[in-house]
Amino acid sequence: MLIAGKLVAATNKIEVINPSTAETLALAPDASQGDLDRAIGAARAAFPHWSALPVDTRRKSILALADKIEASSEALSRLLTAEQGKPYADANSEVMGAAAWLRGTASLDLPITVNEDSEARYSETRHVPLGVVAAIAPWNYPLLLAAFKIGPALLAGNCLLLKPSPFTPLATLKLGELALDLFPAGVFNIISGCNSLGPKLTSHPGIDKISFTGSTETGRKVLASASGSLKRVTLELGGNDPAIIMHDVDVSILTEALFWAAFSNAGQICIASKRVYIHTAVYEELRDALVDYAKTIKVGDGLEQGTRIGPINNRPQYERLRHLVQDARQAGILFAFEGDIPNSPGYFLPVTILDNPPEDSSIVQEEQFGPIMPLLRFDSYDEVITKANATPYGLGASIWAKDEEAAWELGTRVKAGTVWINEARHLSPLVPFAGHDQSGFGVEGGLDGLLEFTVPKTMIRKRQAV
Ligand code: NAD
Repeated sequence: MLIAGKLVAATNKIEVINPSTAETLALAPDASQGDLDRAIGAARAAFPHWSALPVDTRRKSILALADKIEASSEALSRLLTAEQGKPYADANSEVMGAAAWLRGTASLDLPITVNEDSEARYSETRHVPLGVVAAIAPWNYPLLLAAFKIGPALLAGNCLLLKPSPFTPLATLKLGELALDLFPAGVFNIISGCNSLGPKLTSHPGIDKISFTGSTETGRKVLASASGSLKRVTLELGGNDPAIIMHDVDVSILTEALFWAAFSNAGQICIASKRVYIHTAVYEELRDALVDYAKTIKVGDGLEQGTRIGPINNRPQYERLRHLVQDARQAGILFAFEGDIPNSPGYFLPVTILDNPPEDSSIVQEEQFGPIMPLLRFDSYDEVITKANATPYGLGASIWAKDEEAAWELGTRVKAGTVWINEARHLSPLVPFAGHDQSGFGVEGGLDGLLEFTVPKTMIRKRQAV
């Protein structure tokens, strides 16, 4: 772990499993209460100096971290594949994406607003850092989602404690080695541990702000735990994104992009397309094209040549998905396609395409977070908007059509923080990303995301000496 500018071990360890083999990959540190207190103490001690530095100095450190990540991309990608399961090429995209995200965030500036400049008075508002930030990341994109938090928290002048998921701590811990010489001691700390570490972190009185990405269920606990000392909170939570396919699409152009909108990272993406609504005019044609494409996709170990989809990251999620699919089968839902999986003890699930399951089935209503694509037939656009919006979530949505204007118009009626037309999942460090309803609380990305790590400070001077 990286604590107070030093790489330290912990007395206790957690086991990290390679999901492609279900075997132990490594032992990672399980931080003690003492480790946590030391890291928070170091961060608090480092804050006055770090926050007083010119923003350009902090920017340089973040850019240097991006360079180091890029220079170590091969080792980081292999580690990420081994602990997360995603194919090597996808792991590499994540690593490079994390570096790009840091660079993008580092290009932002904290605005200074002049509120009044009159004969009577001068008034301006700046955005000052909050203090010590706890960043908590999930297991689906350990490095990229950590970068979403590292960049803005540090650029704004906060000190940081980053905690990866116990299922995927290794690549994140490796960041500690890369960051060691780039920041003053205590500014950037990385600790790992079992699931009880999260609540200890979120309730700790030494934390001023929590930036959390994970499930809606855990998000609620984080919010409750933060209330004790009124910590600021940003929550990026679950989603059940609809993809709406309009009547005029060209199936041959659409199929591949739509397939990956749902199945990238084995479907373990908050903004994966999890409910695919297809206009009745193209339903059969698109269903058959998706099935034909799915037949060409290899599921396997991410380090094996040709693998496009890896295993589910961890056993609890694997078991949850197996039950969800089993329930669907017992309920008589039609399976348009169920692919092959390797003969291996790893947590592999087949690519599964469901043929028009009932709207109220759990496989449609719940966030699956796995390689499952329910295809849902609709007749009218009013009907599909009602169905798409009938969810407690509101993270993302996509509309696919030849008539881009009609798609845009339909998109204005969908309840979601981001609506994509003719693509899905495109994110940028310069654009705000926020969940509506139970998908989130606050913003990541763009200036809005940066400002979440600050508090406004207004100074007013009356133009009269006393
Ligand atoms: P999770 O909620 O189980 O865990 C997320 C993190 O919280 C982990 O680091 C975990 O150790 C920690 N944690 C667990 N219990 C805690 C507690 N009581 N207090 C504080 N921390 C605690 O989520 P997951 O299973 O790792 O990730 C999958 C979920 O994340 C999905 O629902 C997915 O949609 C969501 N997600 C959302 C976004 C987004 O940007 N909106 C991005 C990726 C994933």
